[in-house]
Amino acid sequence: MKRKRGEGQWALGYREPLNKNEENKKNDDGLNVRRRIIDIYSKAGFDSIDPADLRGRFRWYGLYTQRRPGIDGGKTGSLPDEELDDRYFMLRVRIDGGQLDARQLRVIGDISNRYARGTADVTDRQNIQLHWIEIESVPAIWEALESVGLSTTEACGDTPRVIIGCPLAGIAEDEIIDATPQIAEVAERYIGSPEFSNLPRKFKTAIAGCASHCTVPEINDVAFVGVRNEAGEAGYDLLVGGGLSTNPMFAQRLGTFVKPEQVHEVWKGVVSVFRDYGYRRLRSRARIKFLVKDWGAARFREVLEKEYLGYALPDGPAADAPLPHRDHVGVHRQKDGNFYVGFAPRVGRLNGDLLNVIADLATEYGSGRVRTTAEQKMVILDVPEERTQALADALAEHDLQVTPSVFRRQTMACTGIEYCKLAIVETKQRGMDLIEELEKRLPDFDQPLSININGCPNACARIQVADIGLKGQLVVDENGEQVEGFQIHLGGQVGASFGKKVRGLKTTSAGLADYVERVVRRYDEQRAEGESFAEWV
Ligand code: SF4
Repeated sequence: MKRKRGEGQWALGYREPLNKNEENKKNDDGLNVRRRIIDIYSKAGFDSIDPADLRGRFRWYGLYTQRRPGIDGGKTGSLPDEELDDRYFMLRVRIDGGQLDARQLRVIGDISNRYARGTADVTDRQNIQLHWIEIESVPAIWEALESVGLSTTEACGDTPRVIIGCPLAGIAEDEIIDATPQIAEVAERYIGSPEFSNLPRKFKTAIAGCASHCTVPEINDVAFVGVRNEAGEAGYDLLVGGGLSTNPMFAQRLGTFVKPEQVHEVWKGVVSVFRDYGYRRLRSRARIKFLVKDWGAARFREVLEKEYLGYALPDGPAADAPLPHRDHVGVHRQKDGNFYVGFAPRVGRLNGDLLNVIADLATEYGSGRVRTTAEQKMVILDVPEERTQALADALAEHDLQVTPSVFRRQTMACTGIEYCKLAIVETKQRGMDLIEELEKRLPDFDQPLSININGCPNACARIQVADIGLKGQLVVDENGEQVEGFQIHLGGQVGASFGKKVRGLKTTSAGLADYVERVVRRYDEQRAEGESFAEWV
């Protein structure tokens, strides 16, 4: 292959690290930091931590330093890490496929109460994040998690992150294929393996066979989407190269049909292409989407088949269009005749006590099986029909609503300035306040409408694919002061279009509810029958 100006692709001979991140990874595998945390740092304390571990390799185990409280968003980016870093950590527990049982949930709840000041947020990648973790507690937390089959391995870092899956895998009436065995196989074979612990950047996987495409496959680095081929066999359509952040791109179909038993080797092939050909020179171009954009789907498929699989995959059909609602909130029948009950905490915020309550209710009313969703929601499975209302009532006593307003159902918020060092503005409380205001001001509004709130230009809460996407930044208020606010993106739709960024369309945080109310009222007055927000915009 002709050697072009290098972007740091290993396969083209660029093995020498071209930036500090690459150098750190070459110096020592991120996975090796586990031993140092157990043997040294947890005993000798925060000040003993090597900075290259603290701000680099810790992520390989889901650990980030939190933002030091009290630093305003205007200082983000202008202060060195040492001043932004708190002595406490965020810890991300990976929950592949969002699959939990009551015992596991109780363990996370107890860890939250014991070591994390009661914090617990469900993320939009089905993880649970804890805060206020001290380094001294980490070995005990790992031991507790591992005793019930959970871990934080590769929950962050330049690694294959959590594999997201449909919360209803195996029970949905309309599912094409139950992806649970494929998720388990990929996780067991490859997560924590040094073969894939030094990728150019993070790598996000979705494997699901559900009809609603609730894992948002279009914005994952690799996605296996349930489909039937012409012979009626169930398998997967393969997509690569999706991602949001500052250069949003939707994943491209490779046009193949992947049999269930091939998923793990095809996944391995795709991630190997990324590891070897991914761009490592610049962090801003190190996601697989840039490679896929430059190569196109046909070349990517050819390299995958010829250099990694050693055989050609058959052509296959595209998956059907997703059902309109991608979440799983409400009471719905399972294919075995039981029901599942999906409920909505506000913007994913829970706490240790609530996790224990949910575990108790899942045991009392169902089989103990609980799921997290990619919309910051949760689902209790296996509830007999006659007990669903009692469960919904019991959840409502804890403000966990099964029939929430559209605002509660469809508003998501990232971590924001409360804990995130990159944040410019507050998001979680802002999101909760916004929901409350909109519920008061627009009690009868019942059209689908997603509102996603980010604390900075990154895309942790997927602002580019929301009806109303709010990107945190400093704005100037009517007194000429710089205050927290948002740039507004309108009319994003997963897989179809990114929200339009209207130049100058911004609001202060204080004026957010007024702004959203105005837009929603206008939409409600002007929309034609059946016209979605994205079409109206
Ligand atoms: Fe932090 Fe920005 Fe991600 Fe929000 S979007 S969690 S502020 S990096």
